[in-house]
Amino acid sequence: MFVYMDHTATTPTSPEVLEAMMPYFGEKFGNPSSVYSFSKLSREAIEKARSQVAGALNADPKEIFFTSSGTEADNWALKGTLEKAKSKGKNHLITTQIEHHAILHTAEYLHKFEGVDVTYLPVDSEGFVSVEDVKNAITDKTALVSIMFANNEVGTIEPIAEIGALCRERKIPFHTDAVQAAAHLKIDVKAMNIDMLSMSAHKMYGPKGVGAFYLRKGVNPENFMHGGGQESHRRASTENIAGIVGFGQAMEILQGRLEADKALNSARRDKLIAGILEKIPHAKLNGATGDKRLPNNVNFSFIGVEGETLLLDLDAKGISASTGSACSSDSLDPSHVLLALGLKHEMAHGSLRFTLGRLTTDEHIDYLLEVLPEIVARRRAMSPLWEDYIKSQGEN
Ligand SMILES: *Cc1c(COP(=O)(O)O)cnc(C)c1O
Repeated sequence: MFVYMDHTATTPTSPEVLEAMMPYFGEKFGNPSSVYSFSKLSREAIEKARSQVAGALNADPKEIFFTSSGTEADNWALKGTLEKAKSKGKNHLITTQIEHHAILHTAEYLHKFEGVDVTYLPVDSEGFVSVEDVKNAITDKTALVSIMFANNEVGTIEPIAEIGALCRERKIPFHTDAVQAAAHLKIDVKAMNIDMLSMSAHKMYGPKGVGAFYLRKGVNPENFMHGGGQESHRRASTENIAGIVGFGQAMEILQGRLEADKALNSARRDKLIAGILEKIPHAKLNGATGDKRLPNNVNFSFIGVEGETLLLDLDAKGISASTGSACSSDSLDPSHVLLALGLKHEMAHGSLRFTLGRLTTDEHIDYLLEVLPEIVARRRAMSPLWEDYIKSQGEN
């Protein structure tokens, strides 16, 4: 059995999306910037996708710009805003300790090479940022607040509308990395007072290598990609037309099934969580519960074992899961997100993330609940860390 439990790392491009994309690899290859009528087919395809994405967010199509990835959209928001704000004497960025590396490493770059002061807000034990903390961090030097919509490792959904209202009131641009959230939640950029928002197609059953950046009319960060006049002179480079078409199609399909997917995913998520808690002793759920957690996210720590080892054991049983972040799988540092939630290193090391989606079936959940307890028990039986832990429990 092939059990794919890593929909947060990426999703399969859906067949309908692929079908919509195919002509733009083939006969409809025209450069949208050319003048002849053949190239109009490419232009029209891009504008249709722009409307599909804008419609889903309650944005104007003119406020949507296609990029090469979610990472590029994040880079644009941070570098474009902070570099431009420098001339106005503003050099302060507020973000959180639990952002994706696309934000964290960009913030580190800005600190190192542009002298930007960065405030990394802490989170509570479930991963929530406090709106009060955001308020208290704002100074007259603050150029941007960037707080992720939902966390990719533990699934915690942040109070984005409240932070948006606060930033709007204080007239500070507000960016949110919604790469994960957009795949599961209804987002209304107007109602939520969002100024900039990043998305990525491959996290929502579209192709890899295409992102979208929502930029509210009147908010003008410096461009990130310099070159030709594509995307209304805001993002240079010949458009990835097939990718953009795929993004639009994926976004439209997603909107039609958002509620049904949410119900199905969260029922399975809660069954998996309850099953693990029931069958595996000393298992700790990381993150929030219910509506404040992404409907497809399950993240556990199992004291006494290494997450990386469990992943290999699971893989041998046909199950693809993650320790949290695909981007850090080649490093042995524990997850910065789990540490920010207050987990000790040994707990953070023993964590696994299962993320559900369109490939998940009820049988997959049952199979995982059958296999995982055995794997954890076997690894614990040979773990000195587990032995110490149990002893310490007995002493207490
Ligand atoms: C995947 C992801 C990104 C990066 O998106 P890419 O399109 O893969 O560059 C950024 N932020 C979050 C929260 C993500 O999950």
